[in-house]
Amino acid sequence: MQSTQSPKSTKPKYIFVTGGVLSSLGKGITSSSIATLLQHSGFNVSILKIDPYINVDPGTMSPLEHGEVFVTSDGAETDLDIGHYERFLNKDFHKTNNFTTGQIYLSVIDKERRGEYLGKTIQIVPHIVDEIKHRIHLAGAQSDFLIVELGGTVGDMEGMPYLEAMRQLKHELGSKQVISVHVTLIPLIRAAGELKTKPTQHSVQELRRIGISPQILVARCERTLDKELKKKLAMSCDVDDDSVIVAKDSQSIYKCPLDLLQEGILVPIARRFNLGELSPNMDEWDMLVKKIISPKDSITIGFVGKYLSLKESYKSLTEALIHAGAHINTRVEILWIDSESLQNSAQESAQEGGKCALDEVDSILIPGGFGERGIEGKLQAIKYARERNIPLLGICLGMQLAIIEYARNVLGIAEANSTEFDKEAREPIIYLIEDFIDSQGKKQVRTHSSPMGGTMRLGEYACAIKKGSKLHAAYKQDCIKERHRHRYEVNPAYKQRLEEGGMLISGESNGLIEAIELANHPWFVAVQFHPEFTSRLKNPNPIILEFLRQSLAHKRVH
Ligand code: GLN
Repeated sequence: MQSTQSPKSTKPKYIFVTGGVLSSLGKGITSSSIATLLQHSGFNVSILKIDPYINVDPGTMSPLEHGEVFVTSDGAETDLDIGHYERFLNKDFHKTNNFTTGQIYLSVIDKERRGEYLGKTIQIVPHIVDEIKHRIHLAGAQSDFLIVELGGTVGDMEGMPYLEAMRQLKHELGSKQVISVHVTLIPLIRAAGELKTKPTQHSVQELRRIGISPQILVARCERTLDKELKKKLAMSCDVDDDSVIVAKDSQSIYKCPLDLLQEGILVPIARRFNLGELSPNMDEWDMLVKKIISPKDSITIGFVGKYLSLKESYKSLTEALIHAGAHINTRVEILWIDSESLQNSAQESAQEGGKCALDEVDSILIPGGFGERGIEGKLQAIKYARERNIPLLGICLGMQLAIIEYARNVLGIAEANSTEFDKEAREPIIYLIEDFIDSQGKKQVRTHSSPMGGTMRLGEYACAIKKGSKLHAAYKQDCIKERHRHRYEVNPAYKQRLEEGGMLISGESNGLIEAIELANHPWFVAVQFHPEFTSRLKNPNPIILEFLRQSLAHKRVH
């Protein structure tokens, strides 16, 4: 049972997490891990990711540039770290939990245009920094703790106003209310067999030059640091001896909170904030991590995607497979199948009677995606699953393609297509609609002239589930809420033909088709929403969990 400890003050306490030396050190996982440990100690924890780039949000960036765009329940397109926070903390975050430099400048300039600054000259200090502080306070309201993760690396030009905001907040609130954690790298010079602390010393010096002295160092390192080296780091960076926390590479990101706990990260946090001794109950977490690391069974899933050069593009989905796998004690091996090369190899192997990648898998997953590239390969994978009774889960674009494949090859509508791939499609079974009812019950009109995020159906929508369907068997509910991120919809003019032709429409939302399945197939289910966005380690998504159960039940002998 969790303790119901409450911090001494009702005002939130802030933990700022910055990164030094280089990027990709795992600040997001460190922040999520600290938050998880505090949450399991009985606190109400919130988290904020600051992205210093100028884009207003990542919605318009290529998945190959930025990785996945994570969608919150309130429809914000956010950084993929927000996904980590939700997966670790098992709770929803919102628009206010992520902002960018673009958003800060937009609102300051907006206020300036409205005359709200009363004729003053608008400057980084105080106006931009004040806006940053305002948003930090907003994200922390109602929480015991706010963990603020600053994207980028200390020394980046874009990061300066944020570090200034952190310095000011510490000055205003005091050291009982604000601490700073610096995540850094201790490189191993292999030729000399030596671990080097100099880059960390320089990074901390840079922070101090700006007026911030970190109280805790999280040192990413391939090896454990011996006592001497820890002491040296503590001395040179001016932190307490017990505040140099080593973070070695872990077998699973979900093991990181356990590793940091063992390294003693809560000791300096509790001391700084005057919290007494903290003892989080991590039993359930520990059990799930053991099942991730050494599970009983294993299955192989064919993941037919097209953004394979950056697997981060599918982050929520690959994590969702790990969560569901842990709950059924099964390792999920992913066979990455590039939809473009599948297109060619499936044709060749069909001609030569040979094998193709799909013959190696227990089930097939068709994720979301945009644009025409790789579509034929995905359609072939869907046909393969349908004809050979292989379990299939289609997500978003995956559902749209499952419908196109069925229309073309079963219903005989040879020219069935999406207007995304052919604007003039003669049989537009997937198309753009002009308006729809949003999650608040308001009518939204879409202007299709803009290719950008503004025309998307985004965020959480209710979906009514047909009783007796496979979808219902998975969710065990008549109505669910899942998140969306797409522009195109199934054309209801084809609904009757689809149903008469053996396709079951198992989910609907205000007249929009949200899920389909095939009755005469062991398990062929496709959904318009993105179930991966609501999957958490402690609470896996029901349809993904059921997909894995079915994959295990229909495991092939290779
Ligand atoms: N490209 C499709 C659409 O916009 C599907 C999007 C997706 O898979 N997220 O509707």
